[in-house]
Amino acid sequence: MTRDRHLRVKTLRVAKTLEKLLGIPRQTSSLPPPLDMLIATILSQNTNDKNSHRAYTTLRAKFPRWDDVANASMRSVIAAIRSGGMANQKAARIKETLRAVNNRYGTHTLSALKRKPNDAVLEELTSLNGVGFKTASCVLLFSMGRDVFPVDTHVHRICNRLGLANGSTPEKTFEQMKTLVPKGRGYSFHTNLIRFGRMMCKSSNPSCGECPLFDECLYEGKKERQGRTRIRSTADHSFMLLDNVR
Ligand code: SF4
Repeated sequence: MTRDRHLRVKTLRVAKTLEKLLGIPRQTSSLPPPLDMLIATILSQNTNDKNSHRAYTTLRAKFPRWDDVANASMRSVIAAIRSGGMANQKAARIKETLRAVNNRYGTHTLSALKRKPNDAVLEELTSLNGVGFKTASCVLLFSMGRDVFPVDTHVHRICNRLGLANGSTPEKTFEQMKTLVPKGRGYSFHTNLIRFGRMMCKSSNPSCGECPLFDECLYEGKKERQGRTRIRSTADHSFMLLDNVR
């Protein structure tokens, strides 16, 4: 078996194991507009999903249209998103992003992207200052329903521990995983890896002893298996901001 085929087969096996453990996440049919998702992704950085969700809903309640945010004072935008942390930096990035979108498309909307193929959307979004591949692919997946596989630091860590990728950065892992993720499983695999990372394969002190992927894992720091896999409730770990942007 070629290395590429071996990795594709292994990726499918991992995806199926996670589906057994965590279920098959289904995407809602009412997806938010791309610009909403882009701003939500900015708010999600360096905080947890609950805090960034609170910041996002407060911002939308105070400024229902993106025109309103663009025209608001920096101070009032900072006040609206304070619960999400790093409010000064995030407010500046939001205002800068809105300015760039308006300069390019003549309006505060990214609806024109919906008619474009994935690569063109990635290229256009990443050419906006401060928008990386992770953010751009989240917009594709969570607001346009495209079958892509965003790679954040958690997905990057787990894919590398499992030996599916060997990228030194999330961007490199994103490129490597493009051909490995089974068709139609971008959303469910991404979502389950995030949940798995929160409940078991944490950055430090992963729960290797009870991990159902123990035999697949190539992580040199993995700990000895201690017993049978224990499936714990994921209720505290399952809320994801990008699933709840309205
Ligand atoms: S064995 Fe440990 S490091 Fe490997 S995937 Fe499982 S929890 Fe993560």
